[in-house]
Amino acid sequence: NKEIHLVKRPEANPTQEHIKLVEGERPSPSQEEVLVKLLYVSVDPYMRGRMSDAKSYIEPFQLNKPMEGGVVGEVVDSKSDALKQGDLVTGMLPWKEYTTAKAESLRKIDPSLGPVTTSLGILGMPGLTAYFGLMDIGQPKEGETIVVSGAAGAVGSTVVQIGKISGCRVVGIAGSEDKIAYLKNELGIDETINYKTENVPERLEASCPDGVDVYFDNVGGEISDAVYPLLNKFARIAQCGAIASYNVPNDQGPRLQMHLIKSSALIKGFTVGDYQDRFKEGFTHLAQWLQEGKLKYEETITEGFENIPHAFFGLFEGANLGKQLVKVAEP
Ligand code: NDP
Repeated sequence: NKEIHLVKRPEANPTQEHIKLVEGERPSPSQEEVLVKLLYVSVDPYMRGRMSDAKSYIEPFQLNKPMEGGVVGEVVDSKSDALKQGDLVTGMLPWKEYTTAKAESLRKIDPSLGPVTTSLGILGMPGLTAYFGLMDIGQPKEGETIVVSGAAGAVGSTVVQIGKISGCRVVGIAGSEDKIAYLKNELGIDETINYKTENVPERLEASCPDGVDVYFDNVGGEISDAVYPLLNKFARIAQCGAIASYNVPNDQGPRLQMHLIKSSALIKGFTVGDYQDRFKEGFTHLAQWLQEGKLKYEETITEGFENIPHAFFGLFEGANLGKQLVKVAEP
């Protein structure tokens, strides 16, 4: 039973030296537990934070223990009445090919809503993050301009589309020509900026002639520094992520305070967990838009349990379009 352990805490970029593939025992379920065979594993940028032992809103991963995160799995043995063999489930589980879990900690997937992988992407944590971050904090109004950084990722690509559904002009920033083409051709975005090849401040100014009303920020750093001067009076910033600084040892934070004052902008950091009580509402909207063809999603699927770390490292190089997943087994 293969497992992936954290063996060293990274100072900068996470690499293979911080992670070890370990052979363990296949566990068996106790009363009220099930045995789950992992099918798909989600790798997410926030996991970088859990590799460090700095104080945060979520516990650090323990050294020499399996890393964990969102997965889709199949119940292969059950000692609970709530779930039976063959059920497909999603939950937070350790990176072990087979693992046990309390049945009550898992959610049974309804396959009629979309492919099972959507429960780790557009109908899961990233989709809910996009929905609540934009609707609750961004408060988009028809005709307004929204700028989205990290626009072609799991969260960003959903924000772009909900921004269009809300009748806004949407400007997206991403790091490759393929991603730019996807945003333009598939998602119908209004303007795009490739931050690796274009002058971001100049292109932002040209793309936002009426300024910026909502900034949905996934990356922070210099990209955000270029957005702040364009904030309109009473702009809203949904501070979702700051991936540009996750691997920077001495955080060189963005210099935004003066711009916030001048624009009376509202900035609010959030974690999707703040909206736990309203997940049903978010999920209902996302599922409805998906069924109506108003939302699209893209997945980048790496194959093989041992390639989970590689897929995770790729998030910091922009290797993924849409949600990065790892397929570890057939059902
Ligand atoms: P993505 O699918 O967007 O994957 C990460 C992407 O970030 C990469 O593909 C890459 O795209 C971009 N990126 C990586 N390094 C940099 C860099 N140095 N500068 C600019 N862009 C970079 O991940 P998610 O959609 O899952 O997450 C997006 C953000 O939202 C992350 O910051 C994450 O931590 C945050 N988040 C926050 C949540 C919350 O509750 N607040 C919940 C979920 C996510 P490119 O090619 O464009 O560079």
